[in-house]
Amino acid sequence: MPGVLIAGELAGGRPAGVTAQLITAAGRAFPGHAVSVAFCGDSLVDVGPFLKTLPLSRVWLLQHPALADGGSGGYEAPAEAFAALAEHATPDVMLFARTDFGANVGPRLGFRLGASIAQDCTSVTAGVQGGTPTVTRPVYGGSALAEFEMGGTGLKVIIIRPGAYSPAALEGGSPEVVSFDVTAVVRESRVKLISTVKEAQAGVRLEDAKIVISGGRGLGGPEPFKQLAELAGLLGGAVGASRAACDAGWIDHSHQVGLTGKTVSPRLYVAVGISGASQHMAGCSGSGTIVVVNRDREANIFKEARFGVVGDWQKVLPAFAATVRDLGKAAG
Ligand SMILES: Cc1cc2nc3c(=O)[nH]c(=O)nc-3n(C[C@H](O)[C@H](O)[C@H](O)COP(=O)(O)OP(=O)(O)OC[C@H]3O[C@@H](n4cnc5c(N)ncnc54)[C@H](O)[C@@H]3O)c2cc1C
Repeated sequence: MPGVLIAGELAGGRPAGVTAQLITAAGRAFPGHAVSVAFCGDSLVDVGPFLKTLPLSRVWLLQHPALADGGSGGYEAPAEAFAALAEHATPDVMLFARTDFGANVGPRLGFRLGASIAQDCTSVTAGVQGGTPTVTRPVYGGSALAEFEMGGTGLKVIIIRPGAYSPAALEGGSPEVVSFDVTAVVRESRVKLISTVKEAQAGVRLEDAKIVISGGRGLGGPEPFKQLAELAGLLGGAVGASRAACDAGWIDHSHQVGLTGKTVSPRLYVAVGISGASQHMAGCSGSGTIVVVNRDREANIFKEARFGVVGDWQKVLPAFAATVRDLGKAAG
């Protein structure tokens, strides 16, 4: 079945947020093309009900003991499984998320199949004829964005940054669910994942938050991040930060937004005391609305903002938080 094949990932037995984002990317870039998804696992029986409503044409299930935990235990087994499926289903394009899984499995699969590969893409569009994808990637340390046309025949493997697209609703469809037998091709991986340490997580995950309140060097120290956290709590959002604030040790690097941090695309991104360097904007320019608080009216970030306050955050932020609190009380 030619078309687009998404390398799916599971989280807690359901399609992961990054997979929902790839569904959005596929729908926007290749409208009218058949889009299918494939999931790896040792036993995918339990996840069946969630898969039956995905807004896709087909769901492939690749099952093998070496593919336990979505194939995250080693990269060779899922690469072999996806490669066998790609040879069978002959998609024009395969989409991976640039997670640890996708960034390792995608290139392995591409190498095995002699496919064209584009890593770390922030967007993908179909060419004029609909067959030649064009991808956008940050280059020169994020100072510029380059467009690459993926010409030639054969499979194109495109690896997309998490957060570059908003997630699609995982319902409303009735895909055909098909088991694809990989027992003959999958071997035990030589590389094995020994353990996974989960990051302690209080509140909403930065990557999933619909509202992100980020702070930068302009905050002047670690203390003000408590105010940002309080505001984020009031709005049901998460706290982000610039690299300068993380490097200063004011907040953990897991909060860093940007080229070398996380890519987020919330509905609302509030940047407080952040100048708007290209490397920071690379991680948040997909946000719906950007609101800025900065005392320098010439700061670059105002060029990217929909709303901006020129002023000292120490005056603006408490008043803003008080208004949010009052509105929350008034709404009951
Ligand atoms: C390869 C590479 C990768 C990088 N990756 C990242 C990345 O992932 N994420 C990232 O963020 N950066 C990244 N950087 C760093 C980036 O270039 C900037 O140095 C960094 O984003 C600056 O952080 P900042 O805006 O907090 O600090 P600054 O640039 O120092 O800006 C501070 C801002 O706060 C304002 N301010 C000061 N006091 C107040 C006040 N009282 N009230 C209101 N506003 C105030 C100032 O006017 C200023 O605009 C990277 C750089 C390189 C070279």
